[in-house]
Amino acid sequence: MRWFLVGLVAQGGCFVRSLRAAAPIRPFSTVLLDPGHGGMDNGGMSRPLPGGRLLEKDLALDTARRVAQLLRSRGFHVVMTRTDDRFVDLDERVKVANRLGPGAVAVSIHYNATGDRSIRGAETFFWHADSHGLATRIDRNLEAVVGGSARGLVRRRLRLTRNPTIPAVLVECAYLSNAREASLVAQPQVRERIARAIADGIVEEARFGDEGIAAVPEIWAPLSRGSEGRKVSKQSRKKRHRKHHISASVESVDPAQALPCASVLGGKLRASVNGWL
Ligand SMILES: [Zn+2]
Repeated sequence: MRWFLVGLVAQGGCFVRSLRAAAPIRPFSTVLLDPGHGGMDNGGMSRPLPGGRLLEKDLALDTARRVAQLLRSRGFHVVMTRTDDRFVDLDERVKVANRLGPGAVAVSIHYNATGDRSIRGAETFFWHADSHGLATRIDRNLEAVVGGSARGLVRRRLRLTRNPTIPAVLVECAYLSNAREASLVAQPQVRERIARAIADGIVEEARFGDEGIAAVPEIWAPLSRGSEGRKVSKQSRKKRHRKHHISASVESVDPAQALPCASVLGGKLRASVNGWL
């Protein structure tokens, strides 16, 4: 096992540190692009628009295709976990990443949605220290296009940020639940700008590595309680925003922090919990 976690009890909480080293950055020429969701899994969605609701699975695939084209034009070998509207299990996505091995990075592309329609902005998730530079560069470029949220760059263990053995980042390009952002990302030219921002971040990381990147932030998180496992099983079929809250508890992180779109957690919450912890 290439990594492990250290929890230091401090005033009722703990500091969590991933010890998978950040440096030296491994050069990479292969990029795995992972369009979120697909098939029966729509992901998040917008409110009804004149052309119908925007589905996260469609926007993620469209954006990933654009990123792929941009990267290939710059000489990268690009692999995609899906190229059409089909369901791909989260663990299968991780397996694809791990089969690529050294010399590759993974970027999962999503659009977020939440019950609070005022929340907006791009968010970029990473977990391992060796993914911090890539996440930082993508987030910087994306925020210049979409605008940042209060969260922006978020260190969070998700199945797609924790389990890949290669540097892995999950990008939430914008909030479909925010009317302004939904109207923007409905436009192909805006998605092209988003794709270019993601591609630029990848290219910069390949070129410069972690040079100039700030230290990896530590996470302060309250300790989990033994009862939370039961809460999950009882409430796993509740509304999506409840899933968010419960999952945050199980994951031992501050529930006020950003969470990715609910379906990143997987089809069944119990399976997701196993994947997260
Ligand atoms: Zn998603």
